[in-house]
Amino acid sequence: MPVDKLYEKAKKLVESRRVESLGLGVYNVVGDHGTYTVAEDASGKLSCNCVGFLRKGQCSHIAAVIILTKMKKKT
Ligand SMILES: [Zn+2]
Repeated sequence: MPVDKLYEKAKKLVESRRVESLGLGVYNVVGDHGTYTVAEDASGKLSCNCVGFLRKGQCSHIAAVIILTKMKKKT
């Protein structure tokens, strides 16, 4: 998936409030095909348990969490 398309998808996830912070750097993301867990490790690196992340190292769920955290820092 191209990066801009991934970003668009991630934005929609955030806008439809499908990204939920569980605290301690752990997030629940309700995707189109299931609910995924995005977790931040001690170095601030995000990982997701979906197939897209396992295969390519990036996915819309992680992008959604990044968008959400950026939005929170602004306000
Ligand atoms: Zn994912």
